[in-house]
Amino acid sequence: MSYTRETLATVERILEERRQQAELRQLDRSEEVLAKIPAVSQLQRELAGTIADVVRNIGSADIEDIVREVSEKNLAIQKKIGDLLEENGFDRDYLETEYTCPACRDTGYISGESCECRLALLKEVALGNLRSNSPVGKATFENFRLDYYPDEADPALGVNPRARMEQVFNFCKNYAEDFSLDSDSLYLWGNTGLGKTHLASAIAGEVAKNGFQVIFDSASNLMRKLEKEHFSPARDTTYDGAQDELIKCDLLIIDDFGTEFLTQFTVSAVYNVINSRLNRNLPVIINSNLDIEGVEKAYSQRIASRIIGNYKYIQFFGSDIRQIKKNF
Ligand SMILES: [Zn+2]
Repeated sequence: MSYTRETLATVERILEERRQQAELRQLDRSEEVLAKIPAVSQLQRELAGTIADVVRNIGSADIEDIVREVSEKNLAIQKKIGDLLEENGFDRDYLETEYTCPACRDTGYISGESCECRLALLKEVALGNLRSNSPVGKATFENFRLDYYPDEADPALGVNPRARMEQVFNFCKNYAEDFSLDSDSLYLWGNTGLGKTHLASAIAGEVAKNGFQVIFDSASNLMRKLEKEHFSPARDTTYDGAQDELIKCDLLIIDDFGTEFLTQFTVSAVYNVINSRLNRNLPVIINSNLDIEGVEKAYSQRIASRIIGNYKYIQFFGSDIRQIKKNF
């Protein structure tokens, strides 16, 4: 599983805040206790002294005896502190630092491995990031309305849009539920306003909920980011970059493909992303109102042939849903 730099940084910040809060709370409690039970202060100094004893004797022949003696002494002092706390109405462990996750003491790691709490945070933050900059989370399978689609055969196309869209809906729902890194790439094609963005967002939300890293953005936003990165004079060498994230994330969803402003740079960047993900066998979902001929004209034959050969083509039918919604 890979996460964006933004997600990783947010999680580090949350962990740091948790540590600081735990330590501040401990300081407050310590002050409170010392004001009420001054004797604890002397005992704490004794505790510190025993540790100094061990340090002073490192390397000496009878270090084992010293360590044993010191541990016993420590336990006795800790017991005394506990007793004093209890006598004064505190819990015995009132002076212990209370971490959100005692297992890793809010560092996020246990012996160099990610702690469960960090993994859970990554998932949570990635999903949150996804929601803040896209319709993901708002447009779900639950609030997709099939009754917006005409329930009679379209004379020009000879298909019943509602029946066809029900198939499309079920396909997308199954795709999201069964998503894995081996899932197919999809090309969702149809006129504007037929629910492509809605279903792609619903897929993104469901897949992210299952712990995969999903990038969902419009083609024009993605291109702007790539351009900025490419042409920005100060490049951050500690960061693989936006392009790398697009190539490596578990699922990339490009919304409104074909509406972005195309330059020589963007055409080659699109090809690079699509081709690199194909080479890595990583799925992509493209939403577009361009048919394959349109892709060939707008981008290049190379891009069109990559899509034809490797994507599942899903056609959307119906009248412009946004028009229908207005009349409801
Ligand atoms: Zn933890």
